[in-house]
Amino acid sequence: MLVVMKTQATPEEIRVVCEHIEKLGFRAHPLPGAQRTAIGITGNQGEVDRGNLEELSGVAEVIRVSKPYKLASRDVKEEDTIIRFAGTDATIGGRDLAIVAGPCSIESRDQAFAIAEQVSAAGAQFFRGGAFKPRTSPYAFQGMGIEALRIMAEIRDRFGLRIITEALDSETLELVAEWADVIQIGARNMQNFSLLKKAGRLRKPVLLKRGLSATLEEFMMSAEYVMSEGNYEVILCERGVRTFSDHARNTLDLSVIPAVQRVSHLPILVDPSHGTGRRDSVLPMARAGVACGADGIIVEVHHQPENALSDGPQSIYPAQFAQMMNEIERIAPVVGRTLPRGIHLNVAPKYGERLGLYDAGKAK
Ligand code: PEP
Ligand code: MN
Repeated sequence: MLVVMKTQATPEEIRVVCEHIEKLGFRAHPLPGAQRTAIGITGNQGEVDRGNLEELSGVAEVIRVSKPYKLASRDVKEEDTIIRFAGTDATIGGRDLAIVAGPCSIESRDQAFAIAEQVSAAGAQFFRGGAFKPRTSPYAFQGMGIEALRIMAEIRDRFGLRIITEALDSETLELVAEWADVIQIGARNMQNFSLLKKAGRLRKPVLLKRGLSATLEEFMMSAEYVMSEGNYEVILCERGVRTFSDHARNTLDLSVIPAVQRVSHLPILVDPSHGTGRRDSVLPMARAGVACGADGIIVEVHHQPENALSDGPQSIYPAQFAQMMNEIERIAPVVGRTLPRGIHLNVAPKYGERLGLYDAGKAK
């Protein structure tokens, strides 16, 4: 169920409607849009009695949402979600492409800094690096843990890059939330529902990677898990799925990008590294990701991939990353996008941000 407020509804009227919904024993999710605020209702098993709701001041209409996911759906919020990073000009979603680059794993301070310096020089705004690694073999490198989080915090201070790193479980979720700007939930955890709910109770953006065999609806339902707990800042990521094809590690399903954008307002990134598993396929698929309308690219970069402790064969060299940036910069305008180069700090909040319009989750 969805309560659509009138364009001129006041914050007080929105508050009263939310209170009314909560009194009925449901949860209210106010989602401000450019034109009007919609309030998603969750926690109901069947139909919510719309009687009184329609009478409340400021309410335009009460409508049923037919999809099993509600808050992630365009029915609830028509315009694209743009995630902003306080004090910077970086965004995920919207006109500017978001470029996330860095090694699969943080291996040492020197390694991380060498890579960060080069991806920053080429214009990345976000740095990725695994601290806690989900590895198929228990004997493979598992990540440097908290030490890696400290190194990435230094990188953030030194280069301004915003940090994205994976949380594997409840314990690491709290640590990652403390240190990172975006919490990654990996493909193998896409249906770890208790982890999704915990991430939903945090007020930090979540990068949710598509499961190895997840359908569009399963992917959306996982985003819904996070949002149902009040965290509306979810970024989706297509990272390849399992198919019969054996020419690549996975099959990068780019056709999911327009499919997601049809049904959801959430931003979606493409990961051509895990999506192909091959260095020579990363650039072509990064170009294709931008061309098909993704909101950005997350890519593994290593200065010495032959010595990498994880995912070396799919890691591109910094020079290839610089080339990727030049190429997607030229593709971007064809699909109505721009490629920002570098991150600018101490940017004054925009008018809407001061009003908390982009921050429904945090305002609660
Ligand atoms: C990663 O980003 O390094 C990673 C392990 O991703 P995924 O969960 O998509 O395999
Ligand atoms: Mn990896």
